[in-house]
Amino acid sequence: MYDLIVLGGGPGGMKAAEVAGSRGLKVALVEKEHLGGTCLNRGCIPTKALYSHVIGGKGAREGLWSRLEGVVEKLRTGAAQTLKLSKVNVIKGVGTVTSWGETKKLSVVKPDGSTEVLEAPKLLIATGARSVVPDFAGNDLPQVLTGDWAIIDPQLWDPDRNGQVKTVAVLGAGVIALEMAMILQGLGKDVILLKHSDQILRRIDGDLKKKVVQTVKKRKTTVYDYVHLTSARQEGDGLVLSGTAGEEPLEVACDRLILASSMVPILDGFSLEDSGVEIKKGCIAVDSHMRTSLPGVWAIGDCTGGAMLAHLAEYQAVSAAFDMLGDDYSVDLDALPACVFIDPEVAYVGLTEEQAKERGEEIVTSKAYFAANGMALAMGEGDGFIKVVARASDKRLLGVHIIGPEAASLLGEASLAVSKGLTAHDVAFSVHSHPTLCECFKDACMRLAE
Ligand SMILES: Cc1cc2nc3c(=O)[nH]c(=O)nc-3n(C[C@H](O)[C@H](O)[C@H](O)COP(=O)(O)OP(=O)(O)OC[C@H]3O[C@@H](n4cnc5c(N)ncnc54)[C@H](O)[C@@H]3O)c2cc1C
Repeated sequence: MYDLIVLGGGPGGMKAAEVAGSRGLKVALVEKEHLGGTCLNRGCIPTKALYSHVIGGKGAREGLWSRLEGVVEKLRTGAAQTLKLSKVNVIKGVGTVTSWGETKKLSVVKPDGSTEVLEAPKLLIATGARSVVPDFAGNDLPQVLTGDWAIIDPQLWDPDRNGQVKTVAVLGAGVIALEMAMILQGLGKDVILLKHSDQILRRIDGDLKKKVVQTVKKRKTTVYDYVHLTSARQEGDGLVLSGTAGEEPLEVACDRLILASSMVPILDGFSLEDSGVEIKKGCIAVDSHMRTSLPGVWAIGDCTGGAMLAHLAEYQAVSAAFDMLGDDYSVDLDALPACVFIDPEVAYVGLTEEQAKERGEEIVTSKAYFAANGMALAMGEGDGFIKVVARASDKRLLGVHIIGPEAASLLGEASLAVSKGLTAHDVAFSVHSHPTLCECFKDACMRLAE
């Protein structure tokens, strides 16, 4: 008998197992594929390995694919070691819950066909999400890839093997769609962006959005708005896509189509439907401690919906594991950082100007430009800015929005400031070293603090 069974070994499941195991619970973690889930094997890490080489210009292109595979393998090994050190028993196989009673029972079908039944009073669901596949004829053709699996196709991404692929259509206008589009452009492919609306990166601040739209235009990306696909048919080695773009008929030829419009929680395949666990808008409903409606069952990460981010899954995992152990921690969603690895890079934390106004906050904003930052100019990267949104009364930082060089790394200080309720004055008058990119954040805060 275990104390806790974790179903799913992505960043969320692994972190929960590690925290619970290292604090003395007897934990079994069940994963049907590789440890690390979508993030390590097909998402964050492989895309950023490509990004840093193709857009960041770090490292030679030759052998890029084998280096990428090497990074993933190294991190998988590291993950297995961390779990071992935390005394977590990792079991490879497909898990299905056979009893949702006081003692949870999980049957695991292993790769050799054998079955093991696990029992524990506590169960944590961390089964992740999958790409939505819109309903159109030919959506199952081999040239049609989903955003969550596209990265494993070396015929598309490996500069040593992707010569046949000239044009790629990407359906979507969110983070995954844009990141993939820009990497492909960096690899010399023509990209056709098929958007469901006229929006791009829906959640980001309006000023950053304008700049992203300019960037997409500057790259001569072919963009269609209000796209509805009705069919994909094979022509030679490629595809012809048909449908409409707004009122107009649409016909597009491409070598590959990537479906990257949205992701939905994985709620099937483990008998959740028999559990009575409450589902809200297609996601497992949880409280601020990641408890579901069923006693003894927690859920975290992408299967609970919201912002589907690896670091959110990990912090939710800490929240759930602490709750099981009688401790108290919940994630502050008003200080949730997020990054978009495009060129220029985008990173943000907290409220956008639009969200702050919707909440009725009296706010002030300020901007500092990388064009006036010594380090950015020295790097030849003076494009972009940092925008700060603060409460008018006391200049408490409510949101920080960055577009420019190393935005994702710069976000660390901004996240700390927003999550700890610091003011523009606090940031402006803590000494920032020179010449550094983070002086740009200090400058934006200084304008409000003076
Ligand atoms: C292309 C792409 C790029 C991304 N880039 C970023 C990024 O840069 N930054 C970021 O924060 N996020 C990024 N994400 C999102 C990130 O990958 C997810 O938010 C994160 O992986 C969610 O973690 P999770 O633990 O909830 O689920 P997952 O990582 O999806 O893990 C769930 C695991 O559960 C297993 N599982 C499911 N059902 C069963 C079962 N019945 N039995 C056994 N095992 C089961 C699955 O095999 C899987 O390994 C990206 C996603 C994609 C697709």
